[in-house]
Amino acid sequence: MVVDARSDVEQSLNVGNTVSHLLNSIDEQLAPWLKERGQGAYRAGQVRRWLFERRAREFREMTDLPQTLRDELGGHFTLWSTQIARHTQAEDGTEKLLLTLADGGQVECVLLRDEVRRTICISTQVGCGMGCVFCASGLDGLTRNLTTGEIVEQMLQLQLLLGPEERLSHVVVMGMGEPLANLDALLPALEEASRDDGLGISARRITISTVGLPKAMRRLVEAKSRYRLAVSLHAPNDELRHRIVPVSEKIPVADILAEADHYFEQSGRRLTFEYVLLAGLNDSVKHAVELAELLGGRTALLNVIPYNPVAGLPYGTPSQSAQRAFRQTLEDRGIAVQFRHRKGDAIDAACGQLRRRSRV
Ligand code: SAH
Repeated sequence: MVVDARSDVEQSLNVGNTVSHLLNSIDEQLAPWLKERGQGAYRAGQVRRWLFERRAREFREMTDLPQTLRDELGGHFTLWSTQIARHTQAEDGTEKLLLTLADGGQVECVLLRDEVRRTICISTQVGCGMGCVFCASGLDGLTRNLTTGEIVEQMLQLQLLLGPEERLSHVVVMGMGEPLANLDALLPALEEASRDDGLGISARRITISTVGLPKAMRRLVEAKSRYRLAVSLHAPNDELRHRIVPVSEKIPVADILAEADHYFEQSGRRLTFEYVLLAGLNDSVKHAVELAELLGGRTALLNVIPYNPVAGLPYGTPSQSAQRAFRQTLEDRGIAVQFRHRKGDAIDAACGQLRRRSRV
């Protein structure tokens, strides 16, 4: 009996026995395949260079490989498992892709341009199971984890949008989904982002944003991860946080901060805490005072994100004066605060919006 060892997701990717998604595990798949054909191991490096550096779209373009080998590669491996369902561009240079996966699910990813920076924002799951009350991504719950290949593919698809003079400089894992709930697929994908023979983006320019799952944060410490970690706090105490981030009901803020501190000790990377400012809910001066007390003494940056309203949800963006008072209160107490500059609003490039729009 032949047992199909591929996961359900891999099987549903419609990749038959002879065609497999190369981006899922490039080295592991290419090395034995090349060996079987008596080809030198250096060929894998050539394929990598074409994919990551020379931005090839097809094996056909890999002109320093023999024609027969290119044909065989094309017959055995598929490079792309997704299709671009929509490509939108904003005047500020932000571009967004809505990708349809092989099983029909959809995720979005974004390219942001800021002076010389070229930052990509990628998704890790279809939907999200965390249920943050204000967020569009989790409105329909979690459908499934993305595969490594689907995560790498987002990065390569976004890279293909760049002009020849442009280079990717930063990755933020802040798209749809909770990255720490899909570390098995994410970590190999980020390896491809950071390796010299991958995208070559240094680990300190890669940020993983998490709702704060202590066990998974511990796993990152144990894996000696060098990525930046951003923790979505959104409230200065457990009672309020449970209302805004329901998954935190059994996760005290103190536990999250303790793991974040471990991460800082291990990685040496300054922590970031994210705080979505929701009118009338977590935006008072009292909240700011409490937040300053909670975070005080840490080498940390507080990234405040004025709420980006989601159609159908009853949350609003605080007034300019409320935002100013919140900021001033934190700064007066020595907290390093940054208000996130919103880019791509015009094309709904923030927080799960495009996928929803395309469905309504
Ligand atoms: N699951 C990860 C990544 C989420 S997206 C996490 O929780 O960190 C990155 C950030 O955007 C998170 O802090 C998230 O809470 C925030 N966010 C989600 N929807 C938003 C919205 N409509 N307006 C502003 N920020 C939002």
